[in-house]
Amino acid sequence: MSTLVLQLAYLYPDHMSIYGDRGNIIALAQRCAWRGIQLNVVSVGVGDRVDWSAFDLAFFGGGQDSGQALIADDFLHRQSAGLCRAIEDGLALLAICGGYQLLGHYFLTHTGERLPGVGVLDVHTVGGKKRLIGNIVIEAILDEEQPSVTRLVGFENHSGRTYHGPRARSLGRVLVGYGDNGEDGTGGTVYRNTIGCYLHGSLLPKNPQLADYMLRAALRRRYGSTAMLPALDDALELHAQRSMVERLLPR
Ligand code: GLN
Repeated sequence: MSTLVLQLAYLYPDHMSIYGDRGNIIALAQRCAWRGIQLNVVSVGVGDRVDWSAFDLAFFGGGQDSGQALIADDFLHRQSAGLCRAIEDGLALLAICGGYQLLGHYFLTHTGERLPGVGVLDVHTVGGKKRLIGNIVIEAILDEEQPSVTRLVGFENHSGRTYHGPRARSLGRVLVGYGDNGEDGTGGTVYRNTIGCYLHGSLLPKNPQLADYMLRAALRRRYGSTAMLPALDDALELHAQRSMVERLLPR
């Protein structure tokens, strides 16, 4: 059988990749390698031209407000049209924190700067004075067709409060921590195969179910619905995830 190949766009790694976000790329690459899938990672920086139809997966990490300000204009004017078409077409995109905020309508920082987002997610974000920092657990339904609950663990650190509009579908409910805004229990947003949330961590090494959800969506985009993702032995990862949940949510 010929080798399966997936292409991943890593958005603005120089400005947008804090609190271990790069570990998500390492986790995806390793989970592909264990299965004999070749994952090609292409960094996308300010000024780069991208043919989004060539990508199956994308990652957009978090950043300081100042980092977001440096890339927001490029993201909106150079990437958004192609990226949004690819999202409609099934691109699997994971966006964390600062990246999540820029997929919404706008981020009004706590100093009053308005960073426009691409609006593919029906959310907007307003910065507050107190940062929302700590471990976080959300209860997520990853696949609406086979609704089973997955407890995702991560670490959050943001001033932005993200509020959902009527078209935003929540990724999950916050069990521990602040989540999107610290007020209404929302934890992340899903649209097609795009997920935005506040879970740094790194997120994917701690949550193999989510890593494989992204890889399955990427394979579907490239090879159609018959492409299968072989199971891995995740005993160690699931044990780590469970112990974190138990520590944060004692019975
Ligand atoms: N600068 C944004 C905020 O503070 C995003 C932070 C982050 O990506 N961790 O809300």
